[in-house]
Amino acid sequence: MTERGTGWIEVICGSMFSGKSEELIRRLTRAKIARRNVQVFKPRLDDRYSDEEVVSHGGLRLTALAVATSAEVLERTEERTEVVGIDEVQFFDPGIVDVAGHLADLGKRVVIAGLDQDYLGRPFEPVPALLALAEEVTKTRAICVRCGAPAARTQRLVASNERVVVGAAGVYEARCRRCYEPGIATVDGSLPFPDSPE
Ligand code: ADP
Ligand code: ZN
Repeated sequence: MTERGTGWIEVICGSMFSGKSEELIRRLTRAKIARRNVQVFKPRLDDRYSDEEVVSHGGLRLTALAVATSAEVLERTEERTEVVGIDEVQFFDPGIVDVAGHLADLGKRVVIAGLDQDYLGRPFEPVPALLALAEEVTKTRAICVRCGAPAARTQRLVASNERVVVGAAGVYEARCRRCYEPGIATVDGSLPFPDSPE
């Protein structure tokens, strides 16, 4: 076993289908190969696939604990755990920022994956704060389904003004800046940005 060193925060962010979960799973799998004690958390809200696993769109899987709050992440992290993985962090309450910092202060490596923008292309809290506080940041890009360019935006395909509409293929697709259509998903035809001048 290695001695406990300095902790830190790594954030993997990007649009849907950009490979965030894949990259998270890759890093945590390598930590396990290095015989680190690894625990993985995900928000309970996200029940697209399994409750006990993080699953990528490409089919990679890793055992995970589904929790309801950021406080539960802290409570359920065991003392012997050296690497803490958190997927879909944008669905956690704002307390996750302090929890991640606390875990890193305890000497743990905290690897976090999440959407950096919502369906309107706005920064998706708490990811912006985590990006600022992290020691290391990786931004992944998908492929634009319209033109094949690298894609950083998530296009919502169903009509809803809710910030959180859980889904994957058929509900969202990856688009580049040029092909992204911000107005397409409004229910009532109003401007999608609440602060936009009429
Ligand atoms: P994320 O966690 O960012 O949503 P995942 O890691 O779950 O992404 O899935 C990434 C995988 O999704 C890719 O390796 C690829 O197999 C698949 N995929 C489906 N659509 C796309 C797309 N438009 N661009 C890139 N990868 C895609
Ligand atoms: Zn495009």
